[in-house]
Amino acid sequence: MVKENLQKVQKNIEEACKRSDRSVEDVTLIAVSKTKPIEMIEEALAAGKTEFGENKAQEMKEKQEHLPDVIKWHFIGHLQTNKVKYVVGRAALIHSVDSFHLAEAIQKECEKKQVEADILIEVNVAGEDSKFGVKPEDTEALVRKIATLPLVHIRGLMTIAPFVQNSEENRPIFRELRKLSVDISSKNIDNIDMNVLSMGMTGDYEVAVEEGATHVRVGTGIFGERNYQI
Ligand SMILES: *Cc1c(COP(=O)(O)O)cnc(C)c1O
Repeated sequence: MVKENLQKVQKNIEEACKRSDRSVEDVTLIAVSKTKPIEMIEEALAAGKTEFGENKAQEMKEKQEHLPDVIKWHFIGHLQTNKVKYVVGRAALIHSVDSFHLAEAIQKECEKKQVEADILIEVNVAGEDSKFGVKPEDTEALVRKIATLPLVHIRGLMTIAPFVQNSEENRPIFRELRKLSVDISSKNIDNIDMNVLSMGMTGDYEVAVEEGATHVRVGTGIFGERNYQI
């Protein structure tokens, strides 16, 4: 099941790449395994997937301890400063930094562990009250401030688009994130690059790829519906 789903999603990504004249090597499919058991991650791993996304710090830590080191873990959830210790040195990329306060906590943990951290800035493009993320107009100022932290490296931007019935409705959101990334990139700020655009989920990843996503985060489309009662 997991293997077939992975193949289907990967094929859809390839087709979206063709439509938008992009190279499929430029798009990474992150399998979002939050709430799902180790056995399902092993199935995906056996099918060749090595990039997984988790949104809870302790859950990521526990799964990592039970699974091979070849896996690259993406931390995609809201991160509280008191959980930074579980994520720094474990996540290959932290997608959800939206304040200087959090970036400073990551810097401190990096100093303690003698490591560096790659992060993305989470932008609330749609302006939904329920979402975390910095406002588009405040993003450049935040990037400039975080760029002063020597062990924290901004690699790009991330957004969570609204839940919609028709994925086309999110096209303007993805387009705006891409534009923001191009704008910030043109400022040549030291200690940052804007190579990563993390956008698109099960409902809208194809549109996100057409609009330039380098990383899509797909959970339900690979592992099936999540059961939050457990
Ligand atoms: C859960 C989650 C996803 C995956 O959502 P699906 O709709 O199941 O694909 C992607 N990104 C973030 C930040 C998430 O929390």
